[in-house]
Amino acid sequence: MRVFAIPMRTRFRGVTRREGVLFQGPAGWGEFSPFADYGPAECARWLAAAREAAHEGWPAPVRDRIPVNVTIPAVGPDRAFEMTKASGCRTAKVKVAERGQDDADDFARVEAVRDAIGPDGRVRIDVNGGWDVDHAARMIRSLDRWELEYAEQPCATLDELARVRRMVDVPIAADESIRRAEDPLKVRAAGAADVAVLKVQPLGGVRAALEVAEACGLPVVVSSAVETSVGLAAGVALAAALPELPYACGLGTLSLMDGDVVRDPLAERDGEIEVRRPVVDEEALRRFAAPPDLEEAWRRRAADAQAFLPGPPMVGVDR
Ligand SMILES: [Mg+2]
Repeated sequence: MRVFAIPMRTRFRGVTRREGVLFQGPAGWGEFSPFADYGPAECARWLAAAREAAHEGWPAPVRDRIPVNVTIPAVGPDRAFEMTKASGCRTAKVKVAERGQDDADDFARVEAVRDAIGPDGRVRIDVNGGWDVDHAARMIRSLDRWELEYAEQPCATLDELARVRRMVDVPIAADESIRRAEDPLKVRAAGAADVAVLKVQPLGGVRAALEVAEACGLPVVVSSAVETSVGLAAGVALAAALPELPYACGLGTLSLMDGDVVRDPLAERDGEIEVRRPVVDEEALRRFAAPPDLEEAWRRRAADAQAFLPGPPMVGVDR
């Protein structure tokens, strides 16, 4: 059991340092890195994902490469153009509805990204729940002049998503609305989305996420929780095992972090990530080892989560 703390190159969810625990088991390394605001019951699912990685391994892949999107933050159009070009990705996800910006900023950014990626590329927007229903319907219709692949979480609630979905022709994806295993079924039942964004850790592992995908019946986009290559490998394994993968995944997140714990990081090349399990590097583990107080806090966090985890205990976790 090793506790890591890696500086973020880009601030994410208000954090400047990504922290978590890596476990080594007979099947390899697993990552446990729930965000700070999650309690022990919720963390148990994240721990289940680490246990699966370390003790069981993952189902066999049906593909050997995973297409990923480049994410364009709320930057100006020139920078958005450059970032899209430089990525080599055939799909771009554009962040919109940033606080302190207005609709014109979103139009300029989406237009620049469409210019950069060309008519054959795909452009999706991610609203992170930032619009109300009318604003969402108006913006999605307007932005669709640059041909949107889908609009991710245009509003905060399921009810709002369902209403927007009935008002526009662009497919709607649910991201923040899916945090637990039961959520995709609620999304489906509410008619709130056409696409489900799934992450391995909060759903409790690759097998659990595959079951969720099958039960909800929506096409899936696999996304990371901004993890090291150890955690990303589980997302890659899920994307590799899904029977259908019609969309590029949100697994190209390594560049947000200023370091990694493996010798051969799961970085994207030409818009794709290779399906493989990287080798953990002892020297990197030492370099990013958390200070003692943080290490103690994470050991406690894992032990508290373990108390809510059904099935065999995770080796190395004790109260
Ligand atoms: Mg999102």
